[in-house]
Amino acid sequence: MHLRVTLKDGREKSVLGGHPWIFSGAIANVSKEVIPGSVVGIFDKNGRFLARGYYNPDSQIAMRILTYEEDGTIDVEFFRRRFRQAFELRKRFLNFEETNAYRLVNSESDFLPGLIVDVYGDFFVVQISTLGMDVLREDIADVLFQEFKPRGVFERSDLGVREQEGMNTKPVGVLRGEEPPGKIEIKENSLKFCVDIVGGQKTGFFLDQRDNRERLRRYVEGKNVLNLFSYTGGFSVYAAKGDAAHVTSVDSSQDAIEMAKENFDLNHISVEKNEFLVGDVFDFLPKFRREGRTFDVIVVDPPSLGKKQNDLKNALKAYVSLNRRAIELLPAGGILISSSCTHFVTPEMFWDVLRGAASFAGRKLQVLEMHGHNVDHPVSIHFPEGQYLKCFFCRVL
Ligand code: SAH
Repeated sequence: MHLRVTLKDGREKSVLGGHPWIFSGAIANVSKEVIPGSVVGIFDKNGRFLARGYYNPDSQIAMRILTYEEDGTIDVEFFRRRFRQAFELRKRFLNFEETNAYRLVNSESDFLPGLIVDVYGDFFVVQISTLGMDVLREDIADVLFQEFKPRGVFERSDLGVREQEGMNTKPVGVLRGEEPPGKIEIKENSLKFCVDIVGGQKTGFFLDQRDNRERLRRYVEGKNVLNLFSYTGGFSVYAAKGDAAHVTSVDSSQDAIEMAKENFDLNHISVEKNEFLVGDVFDFLPKFRREGRTFDVIVVDPPSLGKKQNDLKNALKAYVSLNRRAIELLPAGGILISSSCTHFVTPEMFWDVLRGAASFAGRKLQVLEMHGHNVDHPVSIHFPEGQYLKCFFCRVL
């Protein structure tokens, strides 16, 4: 093994503890042949082997660990083993007859830092966020194509975070097989959704909320439901199928709302008898208040309200204001299903957010259920940063 990085004294601890990241400040020495993106052996100051990972001097996270095997080469066989291990979990807990869209690889939490693979029926979508993984693209695409025999493997690496890795490319396109059609029909808990994996948000669908969408069904029978930040109507379709009396979907994206309507059609739910609004949630909430409109169940699932730790204060303020305004539209006994996907907002902070929102609204709130993402978004215990989704089911009094 030629390429080596040696850590400063004491900095091996987090590696021994299983955390996959090594910051640039932890590095004592890098052998001179190492180029950005290479796979290197990582050693402590006494020359003891610790792990193998990829190195990028242009990133604050200078190394991410791929394996703890000293002679573990990173090649197609490595990816085959990792993908099989990841697939075993999904196969065991998902019923592919009912649900054929899921996350196959969840980056660090599936021991493949910088790589996400989402499956949409016969098409696989790859998202690469780091230089070290970018270099390995061909092996990744080959193994996915051979091992799972999809119709196509498509890349959606249009990610701002790649800039933090010193990359100025944001590749999107076919890696193997066929070009995906503009709309793919997938099944989730036997409901049908069309997904645009080429142009939709993220890789096309918010797979992480699947179980929470299913849980919503128990709360909506005969109810008047408001789904804020509806995207293509995920929670809305579940609500309608859970026999809600009326569902209002709000999203700022016209395309998302059009697709939400198509998803109603696909599931034989009346578009006319329900309501679809395009615009800013922060404008609609005061408008509903002025009009004296109320709802029995409100889903609040905003996009991440902050990317950097510096945004924390503003993000918390925005969450409080949003949830307060939602609570104000609920009568006593109303249900608030509130999510946050901002990873630096911890579950404890989200408790504070909801407590603040309830207090400002002059109401009391009970937390009935607390959830995160579903089983296809596992979180490595060594990588708490991987836990980002909070979804609280609450009763407002
Ligand atoms: N709950 C959805 C996912 C929501 S993603 C699901 O289960 O599929 C967040 C959505 O919020 C995106 O569709 C985005 O278009 C929308 N959005 C972002 N800012 C918004 C705003 N200020 N007002 C309304 N919608 C907004």
